[in-house]
Amino acid sequence: MTSTVLLIEDAPDIRLAVRSVLGRAGMSVVEAEDGRSGLRALFSTQPSLVILDIGLPDLDGWEVLERIRDVTEVPVLILSARGLETDKVRGLRAGADDYITKPYGNQELLARVEALMRRADQRSETVDESFADGFLAIDHQSGSVWVHDELIELTPIELRLLAALTRRPGVVSTPQQLLDTAWGDPTGSGVDRVKYAVLRVRRKLAEAGGEEAAAALETVRGFGYRYMRPAD
Ligand code: CA
Repeated sequence: MTSTVLLIEDAPDIRLAVRSVLGRAGMSVVEAEDGRSGLRALFSTQPSLVILDIGLPDLDGWEVLERIRDVTEVPVLILSARGLETDKVRGLRAGADDYITKPYGNQELLARVEALMRRADQRSETVDESFADGFLAIDHQSGSVWVHDELIELTPIELRLLAALTRRPGVVSTPQQLLDTAWGDPTGSGVDRVKYAVLRVRRKLAEAGGEEAAAALETVRGFGYRYMRPAD
């Protein structure tokens, strides 16, 4: 089955380059040159991944990302402009799964896209036992997560992050370990991806179970993160 990538980018030269790199890797690329047509294409093509430029005419990338996250947990890779550290942070906070900064190499782009796709595919193939401790329940077959009895929606990356932490309750994982297990990125660079994914999962836990639910993902300053079931 061919994977479809939706590319929302107004610069024709970048669209051409992305289409050719991903096309050679056997993916089909649907292109949109502005946010509104990107959102229409999201509904009509149901892509496996979205690559989203931030600097877009009409709706900017932030608004597009927000609307994408209102309706789907599809993996989103942000294309951010050179040197804009705040864009990365804002993108990860708002629910993007990864980012890549222009200018980037074609191989780097392909590697990021393939890693996100692989993570999404493996959600249904994971051999993990399902997890339940009376507070949190994870069904790895369906990718469903409940806080008490409330279903929460996680992106594939967020689910893998939570699975990595709940696999060893009370044990601290470093951001580098989590990048490796959840993102499949053994380089250990770009650990802010972990930080913001943790914040997103906490926010979703809090929406379902209040502030003490969010505290289940604990930051151990200077070391990393761990999962601790909240006391009853
Ligand atoms: Ca642009």
